[in-house]
Amino acid sequence: MSSPAPVGTDPTRIGPYLVERKLGAGGMGTVYLASHEQTGRIVALKLLSPSLAREEGLVARFMREIDALQKLKNPHVVELFDHGVDGEMYYYAMEYVPGETLTARLRREKRIPWRETIDLSIQISVALKSAHDAGIIHRDLKPSNLLLTPDGDIKLTDFGVAQVFAGSKLTVTGGIIGTAEYMSPEQGQGRRITKRSDLYSLGAVMYVMLTGRPPFSGKTTLDVIHKHKYSQFDRPRTIVPEIPHWLDDIVCQLMEKDPDKRPADAFVVNRRLQEVLRKVEVSTSDMTLGHGTQEDASTLNAAGQPHRSAVSGGGHGTLMRDLFRAEIEAGKERGSLWRVFENTWVLVGLLAVTLLVIVYGVVNARMRSAEQPDEAAGEFSSWRRTPRAEVDRVVTLARHQNDDGDVAGAERTLSAFAALIPPESPERNRVENLLSELRARNEKHPRDLSLLVAALDRADQLAAAGKTSEAREIWNGAIAIYADDPSARADLERARRNLSASATTSDKKTTKPTAPKPAEPARQPATTTHQGSP
Ligand code: ADP
Repeated sequence: MSSPAPVGTDPTRIGPYLVERKLGAGGMGTVYLASHEQTGRIVALKLLSPSLAREEGLVARFMREIDALQKLKNPHVVELFDHGVDGEMYYYAMEYVPGETLTARLRREKRIPWRETIDLSIQISVALKSAHDAGIIHRDLKPSNLLLTPDGDIKLTDFGVAQVFAGSKLTVTGGIIGTAEYMSPEQGQGRRITKRSDLYSLGAVMYVMLTGRPPFSGKTTLDVIHKHKYSQFDRPRTIVPEIPHWLDDIVCQLMEKDPDKRPADAFVVNRRLQEVLRKVEVSTSDMTLGHGTQEDASTLNAAGQPHRSAVSGGGHGTLMRDLFRAEIEAGKERGSLWRVFENTWVLVGLLAVTLLVIVYGVVNARMRSAEQPDEAAGEFSSWRRTPRAEVDRVVTLARHQNDDGDVAGAERTLSAFAALIPPESPERNRVENLLSELRARNEKHPRDLSLLVAALDRADQLAAAGKTSEAREIWNGAIAIYADDPSARADLERARRNLSASATTSDKKTTKPTAPKPAEPARQPATTTHQGSP
């Protein structure tokens, strides 16, 4: 145990850690770059300010949280390694992230281009999803808790810290929470916090990235809290017109005052953000005459490299493109535009443009297939890259099936494809990993089969009332629609048994048709576990 450093000087060692230099200071204390004297592991060591460390019950609360936090492992969450007390000093050691906070970047650059904002927000949604799945709510998502690496990655830190200080006298007013600019209305009012409170904060963080200013500001913390509850912010697009309206909509929905009106969870946000990129890609591909891969200078990352997830060209398949295009076209006004299409030369021109786009698509797909596939690790949680090789193409197909709600189809695609790949190859491992992660998630979040269960109940009632042919229609329909769905296995078993029982009944040509005995009792409809608080 080391003796406390004199007031005003930095300690040279804390517990088993040798302090190298100070990295910064925040509301809770000071952060140092340090290394473990035995293992040599480099860490960022947060030393709590003495007033906090003396807070009654704080250490006990921290201990309660720490177990859960230490289990939280995700590429976009700063890992918590260790914690301890050294004399009067209370500290915890976490992963050292070289780079800067989002606050520092915004201070320097004012705002972040919308494409990069999408990329960063997708990463934050991945971090939130993994925490929420583990039952952890961040509670204090804000730019100073987001660390940017020179490679353009973002990592969320201080998970659960707000919870540790939840009962503290030193919360908002004591400077621990520091700012209410990103805080949901329910949190500002001290009401129940759910994972959707984090989604509100994500919306506020996206707002500041896009526009350079938080949605609400005020002279005092209470002012800001009041505005989150009662005021309406200016839509980001009114401040920065080039923001795509799909992105503008997501930010506004994340910042709905009523938590029920926000997206259901971080996974949904992740998917919708990816859709924005695809929709923009489709809507601009005609204008760029097939130059969809052209880099927008605004998508350079902190290291000055073109950002890797900038919208890159080539379609994700004609079907997807057509669907999105149809959606976009449907939203446009016909009127005068329609008359333009009646001109033969315009039609000929359009045909030429279409041919160019197709030729470009084919060439681009060939070029991409020559490249190496992405790493598999952690991929499932952050599907967001443009497909390249054949494996990527099939994985993307499975992803679309999954995203469209056809989870069984996604599982079928991956398992059939795995069989085609030589065992022990990296591609096989990758597909099998995705498959097992998909299966694990399906087990954890069973499908909502309430419609199917209600239909089977209705079929039983119809059969009991002698309306066997109507009942059989339902059983046959259930089998046709859900035959491949593993989560509906038990219900389908019931449909099949009742169907064959009814066939036997009608074969015997009983005068009074009797209802087949339900093969198993109607079970409670499975509810989706994506909703609600953890
Ligand atoms: P705040 O209370 O404002 O969130 P912190 O006390 O968490 O600030 O952090 C203070 C500063 O220390 C940050 O601005 C950042 O520069 C640095 N820092 C914090 N955590 C890390 C880390 N894990 N790796 C590198 N630097 C960090």
